[in-house]
Amino acid sequence: MKHTHSFEYEILDHWNELSNDEQQLVKQANIAADAAYAPYSNFHVGASVLLNDGTIIKGNNQENIAYPSGLCAERVALFYVGANYPNAIVKTLVVVAKGDLVKAEDCISPCGACRQVIAQSEYRQKEPIRLILVAQNGKTFIFNQAADLLVFPFGMED
Ligand SMILES: [Zn+2]
Repeated sequence: MKHTHSFEYEILDHWNELSNDEQQLVKQANIAADAAYAPYSNFHVGASVLLNDGTIIKGNNQENIAYPSGLCAERVALFYVGANYPNAIVKTLVVVAKGDLVKAEDCISPCGACRQVIAQSEYRQKEPIRLILVAQNGKTFIFNQAADLLVFPFGMED
């Protein structure tokens, strides 16, 4: 038997069409990207997370001379939440990227490992995380739940 999987997502011309709260998240993600430690790739990624109590947590990529020891912005932010706000609900995750290799129109999508971690955060909190990807020219992709980007996550079933 054949099955089909599809999901809806939204594209905005510019993130200034987002709500004020979400615009604030985009600004914080850009601040985080500017502070990324990315001397090897010069690929500066910033993530910001909105918790259910209104707290905003920032993360950015942290590279290491031993390459696999580094970590992506999304996981830095979500693991910080897990460590410091273990009972919080993550409502929204915004990701931006900048650097020599990043074109203004590029929306950077989470890597596979980050998708697994975001999906597990949703599974853990039993609520979807709104995922917003923002290019430097303002173009914005909005996903209703991060799990849409990872169709069959490892080890989790509904
Ligand atoms: Zn990643």
